[in-house]
Amino acid sequence: PGQLLTEEQAEEIAMMFNALIEIVEETIDPKVKETKSEKIDPEDVLKERWKNLYEENEDKLIERAPVVTIMGHVDHGKTTLLDNIRNTKVAEKEAGGITQSIGAYQVNYEGKKITFIDTPGHEAFTEMRARGAQATDIVVLIIAADDGVMPQTIEAYNHAKNANVPIIVAINKIDKPNANIDLTKQQMVAKLNLIPEDWGGDTITVPISAKAGQGIDELLEMILLVAEMQEIRCYPEGLARGVIIESKLDKFLGPVATTIIKDGKLKVGDYFVAGSTFGKVRRMIDPNGKNVKVAGPSDPVQILGFEEVPDMHSILYGVKTLHEAKDYVEKKKALEEKVVQKRHIRLEDALKMMQE
Ligand code: GDP
Ligand code: MG
Repeated sequence: PGQLLTEEQAEEIAMMFNALIEIVEETIDPKVKETKSEKIDPEDVLKERWKNLYEENEDKLIERAPVVTIMGHVDHGKTTLLDNIRNTKVAEKEAGGITQSIGAYQVNYEGKKITFIDTPGHEAFTEMRARGAQATDIVVLIIAADDGVMPQTIEAYNHAKNANVPIIVAINKIDKPNANIDLTKQQMVAKLNLIPEDWGGDTITVPISAKAGQGIDELLEMILLVAEMQEIRCYPEGLARGVIIESKLDKFLGPVATTIIKDGKLKVGDYFVAGSTFGKVRRMIDPNGKNVKVAGPSDPVQILGFEEVPDMHSILYGVKTLHEAKDYVEKKKALEEKVVQKRHIRLEDALKMMQE
């Protein structure tokens, strides 16, 4: 200790280090390859299975109701608009039933359904897209006519654009004396590069007052129009697939998750997987607080029966058997452990070989 190394000793150490590096490199390569082949994410398998199902059954795909998200700058009127639509267009309300907020609801407008979800946070777009499912089919970008395009307007627009989701602009608060629709449109052009239809562009733009209930019918009509043009489809039969937009641990109910069903049917008693957990549908509650036995495409439901609270934004897949569900979770867990194990082996191998 404290003693300087001789040239010989230093060289010896340098050689040892070089040898160590070689050993590590030798052991890493095949190991990485090996773990890669074992490293099959069961979620990717399901994702692929659905991709194939869609490709092979194009003729069986049918139209489903659009799922719409309202986005925009703070205070531009998202909540007011959601509330207005909910209060005026949700016809079915159970006598004495408690209408609860589950982060989503469905309206029936002129015989057609539209599902609305509360802004799921911008990151949800990117995350769900990576997992192979879109949270929303259409974005209503709300811009207050007395405030114009603001930073979060631009942010929301960018997320919708990156996710390739069609945008309808709702110019809100037109009842206010200082509302300036023309100036708002000018800003749409200058700051978002969105040209309103009545200015010769292709962005559907609807002036509304969420507070006074003005222009709401026009907005809903435009949503249905865009939905029709988008050809929003689903595979209606068989096992379900859905997106989880909210999840939590309820003190009384246990893990619950609000899910929008995208394909197939989810029934009470069905097994399912989601993220890194699984479950069996014990109970489903619709946005009116009513228990339902079956949920189909574009229906929002609260699901009870998860083993653990699933990740928000994960995809829920119905599976045939409990065995399949458990197998999925086992593989998911193994995937998480593998990373730790690999590091362990490498170090051990290297040390052993150093001793030889
Ligand atoms: P959010 O932050 O986007 O959810 O905005 P809110 O819905 O909470 O609305 C912010 C404020 O703007 C509230 O005080 C609303 O009452 C008001 N507001 C929303 N829409 C309108 C509208 O159409 N006209 C007027 N005058 N006020 C509105
Ligand atoms: Mg709000």
